[in-house]
Amino acid sequence: MFGIWGHPDAARMTYYGLHSLQHRGQEGAGIVVTDGKRMKGIKGDGLVNDVFDEKKLDSLKGSGAIGHVRYTGKSGIENIQPLLFHSSSGSLALSHTGNLINANDLKHQLEMQGSIFQTNTDTEVLAHLIKRSGYLALKDKVKNALSMVKGAYALIVLTEDELIIAQDPNGLRPLSIGKVGDAYCVASETCAYDLIGAEYIRDVEPGELIIINDEGIHEERFSLSGSHAMCTMEYVYFSRPDSDIRGINIHTARKNLGKQLALEANVEGDVVTGVPDSSISSAIGFAETAGIPYELGLIKNRYVGRTFIKPTQELREQGVKMKLSPVRKVVEGKRVIMVDDSIVRGTTSRRIVRMLKEAGATEVHVCISSPPMTNPCFYGIDVSTHEELIASSHSVEEIREIIGADSLTFLSVEGMLKAIGREGLGKNCGQCMACFTGEYPTEIYPDTPLPYEKEME
Ligand code: SF4
Repeated sequence: MFGIWGHPDAARMTYYGLHSLQHRGQEGAGIVVTDGKRMKGIKGDGLVNDVFDEKKLDSLKGSGAIGHVRYTGKSGIENIQPLLFHSSSGSLALSHTGNLINANDLKHQLEMQGSIFQTNTDTEVLAHLIKRSGYLALKDKVKNALSMVKGAYALIVLTEDELIIAQDPNGLRPLSIGKVGDAYCVASETCAYDLIGAEYIRDVEPGELIIINDEGIHEERFSLSGSHAMCTMEYVYFSRPDSDIRGINIHTARKNLGKQLALEANVEGDVVTGVPDSSISSAIGFAETAGIPYELGLIKNRYVGRTFIKPTQELREQGVKMKLSPVRKVVEGKRVIMVDDSIVRGTTSRRIVRMLKEAGATEVHVCISSPPMTNPCFYGIDVSTHEELIASSHSVEEIREIIGADSLTFLSVEGMLKAIGREGLGKNCGQCMACFTGEYPTEIYPDTPLPYEKEME
């Protein structure tokens, strides 16, 4: 998500912001802009570049804008954000990232009261809750709506005359504010600021609500902060290496994960290679600590999206074939230590191991810079269902055999916390690690939908 207030070319800035955030979602993109009187939006399937051109950006005039790249979920243009609603009392646009775990219940309640929904998204549930609130000021309407929802959310709301930002009480998804000239901006990741020449100001705190309008910036709370639980997978896999989350640079965190993994792994090899792109930093850290040369043993076809994000297994499998190629001259006749960030279903790891062996690697030792993923994520990251997660029903040795590796090492939970500077803090470590430990920072309902299963009837 990206948002900006007080810039004469808000839509173009949002376009550049979304470009930097493209790795967070490739299924669709949208921008809504306000000129102070009217709001207009354009959205479509695919990458930011597929959706927008000069002409479309020129048609989005105004000094306030929000944008969104779509990660996963039900297909259909109506589900692409930002969602834009018009009414006699004014317009309202919403961008939301995360997953509202009680969205189904709220939707049923709203339907009983006469609401009609156009999308399958929980973002529309939020819009209804905001619009139906009896309060007069938008910030109070938003606060009232947020008091009813549970789960993970970073939220940006745009009207004709203000921008409102909120972060859930556990701070599960990253969100920060920045400044470019006199304009304030907000982004899911700090890498969006570099491209537009903005200066990072600070992260949005859990339970915080920030109002930005022509009078400036106003900070409030809508909830006392729960226990801070930033998604650990943001450090391991999801965020871009040049972003910082809570003062920690992602590349540095990943390098530390690789260094710690090298200390924990008992393997010998001739070369270390990382699975591009998210594991390169960890592989460099591993090689540095192990004293084994880092080599580019796998290259990525830049023009294929991330397999992890494709919505169906069939597309995921097609994607991985097109995506990676081994560098034969690097791996031929070598014992290869292959560093990857995670094993979800095991299919990708199996293919890569086979690919390296077919290219002549004599041994392939797989080292994973996170612990075994045994539990699904209910907070907006598509790490599959319980049944599909290979580590939820197989031992490390069984997984090694399935993926065809000569050895398999996962990083320990303690090692992961140490690498991201949260060692020894126990339950107060400030991280969500539920997919590794099963300890969810919020309550989970028996019918809590997984992000990509959300088919709210
Ligand atoms: S369960 Fe895992 S992927 Fe989901 S928010 Fe927590 S750490 Fe992130």
